[in-house]
Amino acid sequence: MPRIRQQNVTAAQWSPNGETLGKLDLASGDYPFGENVFSPAVQKERLSAETYAKLQNVLAKGEPLDPSLADEVAEAMKEWALEKGATHFTHMFQPLTGLTAEKHDSFFAPTGEGKAIAKFKGSELIQGEPDASSFPTGGIRATFEARGYTAWDPTSPAFIMENPNGALLVIPTAFASWTGEALDAKIPLLRSMDALSRSAIRALRLLGDNEAQRVFTTVGPEQEYFLIDKHYYYERPDLVTAGRTLFGAKPPKGHELDDHYFGSIPERVLACMLEAELEMAKLGIPVKTRHNEVAPAQYEIAPVFENSNVASDHNQILMQVLQNVARKYDLVCLLHEKPFAGVNGSGKHNNWSMGTDTGVNLLDPGDTPAENTSFLFFCAAVIQGVNKHQGLLRASVANIGQDHRLGANEAPPAIISIFLGHELERVFEAIESGEGDPHTPGSFLELGAEVLPPLPRHGGDRNRTSPFAFTGNKFEFRALGSSMSLAFPNTVLNTIVAEAIDELADRLEEKLGAGADVATAVAEVVKESYAANKQICFMGDNYSSEWHAEAERRGLKNLRTTPDALPEVISEQTIETFGKYNVLSERELHSRFEVWTEQYTIRANIEAETTESIARTMILPAAMRHLALCEQAGVTKAAGEARTLIDQLIEAIGELEAANVYPAGVEGLELAKYARDNQLAAMAKVREAADRLEKVVADDLWPLPKYSEVLFIK
Ligand code: ADP
Ligand code: MG
Repeated sequence: MPRIRQQNVTAAQWSPNGETLGKLDLASGDYPFGENVFSPAVQKERLSAETYAKLQNVLAKGEPLDPSLADEVAEAMKEWALEKGATHFTHMFQPLTGLTAEKHDSFFAPTGEGKAIAKFKGSELIQGEPDASSFPTGGIRATFEARGYTAWDPTSPAFIMENPNGALLVIPTAFASWTGEALDAKIPLLRSMDALSRSAIRALRLLGDNEAQRVFTTVGPEQEYFLIDKHYYYERPDLVTAGRTLFGAKPPKGHELDDHYFGSIPERVLACMLEAELEMAKLGIPVKTRHNEVAPAQYEIAPVFENSNVASDHNQILMQVLQNVARKYDLVCLLHEKPFAGVNGSGKHNNWSMGTDTGVNLLDPGDTPAENTSFLFFCAAVIQGVNKHQGLLRASVANIGQDHRLGANEAPPAIISIFLGHELERVFEAIESGEGDPHTPGSFLELGAEVLPPLPRHGGDRNRTSPFAFTGNKFEFRALGSSMSLAFPNTVLNTIVAEAIDELADRLEEKLGAGADVATAVAEVVKESYAANKQICFMGDNYSSEWHAEAERRGLKNLRTTPDALPEVISEQTIETFGKYNVLSERELHSRFEVWTEQYTIRANIEAETTESIARTMILPAAMRHLALCEQAGVTKAAGEARTLIDQLIEAIGELEAANVYPAGVEGLELAKYARDNQLAAMAKVREAADRLEKVVADDLWPLPKYSEVLFIK
């Protein structure tokens, strides 16, 4: 049997070697939720009542941290961590690469007598100085001031990460330059949460709520991913270096049979999921659902929502845990947005809402007219913010992997629009026109809030094609990529909604000042805002070509690729809004634009060079061996066929080789566009010829595992 086909047999013969074997899933008695978290419960046990109360205030009210607490907290944290077997601690942070970074320090310091004692000072908890001068900063940090520092984020609980040979105390931190500029994804997210809270509290006061002190944004991310056998992974240099397959003919069986979606989960995969979920539970990640996704070998996992900052940290950890645990089952977890061409890609649905510290979800239509008034106000603000900043929202989900997915009839298009559901749309239309519909006899505006049309409660209709859909009590931003950090898309969402809330609150204030009652004033404000922004609402099929034409007619932005979208990050409008809300300064926005543009170019180049190398050193030789075989056998027709395809491949490789040499003097966004229009285009040609050869060349000569194997042997 040829080497690669042998892997199929090996892949099919997995034996469970994970750690949860024999443990019952969610066994209610000993479900270890939060076991490895320095949670409020643990804090209460181990801190003085006073320190505990102060720390809780920081968490609940977003009050600044009192540094004098640090020593006591650090001591308690260290003792707890040592009991859990930790020997080291790390400040985990999220540089602009979108990944998480960590540098480990030992708790132990040598004493004079040749022994070591464990030490952890408050100052070490509060601040760290990773030698992180290699992280991209987009020009913020010149090398002479190369040191950034990490600062403890007490609002995201510290936890213990277990490893086969030891444990690590992980402290979530923010990462800033000495000049105070954000070098990471967390700082702007926290700033945006503050901004939204301030705006929302102001609006709530106008709406008559005098109790709420803080509004939190909440996120529940649904994470898609692939699991494939590790043998295939290591046989494919494209998966190893680029995270996606750069070659692969369409298999005879895809997902046409719809036999995978919500199908029964293969045993090995389920075993792996159970262990991963157990690990996540220990880390306090509230994982709730799992199921098969549309594509073969594709799955989804979703936790219950948490505040945006914690949800974002937890999602980073979740991705890490999925990857780590998969290895124990001889699987590899692929988080790339499009690991297999022609097969559904992976996204992340960002369920988003706003909730008060008194427990009210501001996007939940209520039972009383007052609740409904508030709901409509905040809902209108979301519509207004999304419409105004549609380009930026699109840019917030841009990366090179996404360019294969958005708009590819499996994921939302690159055009941002909002799906309200027919019921809610009817309500907004009734408010706008001032005329009731069958549900609202008489004029809404004249009669005021008492006859608000019945609002949809939970569920309502669904539209799977919309990038931004109202789903009963939250909005679901569906355009995120599977490998992405939640931080920036949510930073954008929070900031643009904060601004819209303020704009609506200004109008509300005017009307209230002129003597209007709240219900009438809100109705007027909502009416004006909806009329001005309803172009962003679309209830139809977002995949259809009619929508693309219609969206163009409406003047909505259609930013197809990452280089098209990224300039939105530094548009005048973005700079103004983000500056006004102190979320990101112009310099900080520019640094992100530069880093993300560069990342696009670098990743395009890695893909292009990998394509060139695989085509030249693996596929071409295989094809030539095949040709020799045909010639040896004297089968001229087969030989001719092979020769034609080989000639095509050689020509395409030549073009790619030329494209892989950068033109002189081109850089920044222009270079990204060059990569897109030349390298990626030339790669597509190489792939086309290679994929045709895959269907012709003798199976035992083909050097790469095929889609029909990678995706189906579990
Ligand atoms: P779907 O039908 O899209 O799968 P679910 O009801 O299963 O929807 O919820 C998906 C996600 O939405 C879950 O992570 C859930 O916790 C989250 N979610 C529910 N309510 C909120 C909220 N108020 N804010 C943010 N996310 C929420
Ligand atoms: Mg969903």
